[in-house]
Amino acid sequence: MEEECKICQMVTDKSNPLRISELDVSVVGLNPNQLFRGYTFVTYKGHVTELYHLSLDERMRFCGEMIRVAKALDEVLHPDKMNYELLGNTSAHMHWHLIPRYKNDGFWGRPIWVRRHEEKRLKEEEYRELIKTIREHL
Ligand SMILES: [Zn+2]
Repeated sequence: MEEECKICQMVTDKSNPLRISELDVSVVGLNPNQLFRGYTFVTYKGHVTELYHLSLDERMRFCGEMIRVAKALDEVLHPDKMNYELLGNTSAHMHWHLIPRYKNDGFWGRPIWVRRHEEKRLKEEEYRELIKTIREHL
């Protein structure tokens, strides 16, 4: 664990209300911004910044868990497309962005980063219900 890394702290924080699940090598959590319904992070538990720093076995497990979460999101939300991104520009600790995309999401046909997007917060019970449903499909 790196002391200055906010993601390391998040990984160990089991009280985070947006936490969906802890898998073998990753932690799954909902993005508080739900402009893209179901936007979820799949974060590697260890402080690692690049896929090629992992052993072949570990990278396969990390990708396998990410795909498992993507499939659960698809079953729950039926998006028109799934976006998978591993960026790490502001927080280098590896975390997948799983972004369900919808034809009416306002960014269809383009990455979500082409312009600023507004924040969409849900009510507490809406977060809880979405997290519960995703959990049931994992
Ligand atoms: Zn970290």
